[in-house]
Amino acid sequence: MEKQRPCLEDKTVQIINVSQEADYVVRAGKVFDGRALLPYEKTDIIISGGRITAVEQGAGPAPDSCKVFIDLGGCAVLPGLVDCHVHLALDGKDFNRAMDLWPRESLLLERIGNDLRKTLDRGIVAVRDGGDRQWVGFRARDEVNSGRLAGPRILSPGIALGKRGRYGSFLGPGITGDQIEDTVKKTAARGVDHIKVLVSGVVSFKEYRRVGEMHFSPEELGRLVWHSHRLGLRVMAHASSDEAAALAAGAGVDSLEHGYFISRPTLEILAKKGIPWIPTLAPVANQARGRLGEGHTPEELEVIEKTYRRQLKMVYRAQELGVIIGTGTDAGATGVLHGEGLLEEMLLLEEAGLGRDQILRAATASGSLILGLEKELGMVIPGLPPYLIAVRGNPLENLQALENIEYMILPSAG
Ligand SMILES: [Zn+2]
Repeated sequence: MEKQRPCLEDKTVQIINVSQEADYVVRAGKVFDGRALLPYEKTDIIISGGRITAVEQGAGPAPDSCKVFIDLGGCAVLPGLVDCHVHLALDGKDFNRAMDLWPRESLLLERIGNDLRKTLDRGIVAVRDGGDRQWVGFRARDEVNSGRLAGPRILSPGIALGKRGRYGSFLGPGITGDQIEDTVKKTAARGVDHIKVLVSGVVSFKEYRRVGEMHFSPEELGRLVWHSHRLGLRVMAHASSDEAAALAAGAGVDSLEHGYFISRPTLEILAKKGIPWIPTLAPVANQARGRLGEGHTPEELEVIEKTYRRQLKMVYRAQELGVIIGTGTDAGATGVLHGEGLLEEMLLLEEAGLGRDQILRAATASGSLILGLEKELGMVIPGLPPYLIAVRGNPLENLQALENIEYMILPSAG
């Protein structure tokens, strides 16, 4: 079908939409199926009725003419990537300017449309939003679902639930302990995909190991998780100290976000309970790199550097203990751009000492499990619709191969 990368001015990935009506054979050089690299020289991914029906050794000439033959023999094909933690309400550049756009519908949608396009361009097929006070990420989800905006699959919690008067007023209105049940019910009734809870404030860039105040008591958090689960919703927990992480793990949340200053005993609880950890290295590491010129003092830079270096060590420890690690960027947070943040996060996981196969697994198969989308994406196996990306080079040898996504193969809408 193609032999050469088309000349596009913008670095825009070429998207091949696969229709339900036709049969396809995608011939790939290498295939990483979400778990491992398949052992064939060439691999054929057979797609029929909008789903992968077989993944087998590719051989011989192009198959018969009733099938569409997509020759990606020079590429490595892998599942589309997953970012487990983004904030579509923010742009990663200027917090206040992004918030100023919230009431300006058309400008806001233009900004989000651009960021979603950049997200797709990086091979990201699904993102999980962390919420915002104005339901911006939620609206973005609906724009994509209705076909008005092009973008990855978006899961949204609407708002984040935190304690009134504590950190996170831009993330949600803040509630009291006795509003928990009612708020979870009302939030669920609006059709959110999960519940986001703030268990603590954020990590300080001024004082090492200082983290904003705790929000909920163990009893309150337990109730929040119970009511969410009763309504069939998973709980994504922002917890930035070891105390908060331990509380969240004890309450049985479904994923632990950030977890700065997490301890070994808390990691052991995560491993035992099978709770995934999304360590979000990029938002802190990018501050240390002064990526967008965030003007920190030398003292602050030292705190920032120490904080993310410690996080790198704990990521390695977590992997040794068998904790499921997810790739989440906190894209939208100042210093982390939508789309490109994911490769930065993956390279940081490599700096932490994780193997490239483990990192790719985290960004594909584990990501889809964390989002509950494992029946739709994250693997190249029979039964799943095709959410595939193709790159030159071998990302198992060099993650930078993901810098340029050549093609995406996606199910056509409807
Ligand atoms: Zn966040």
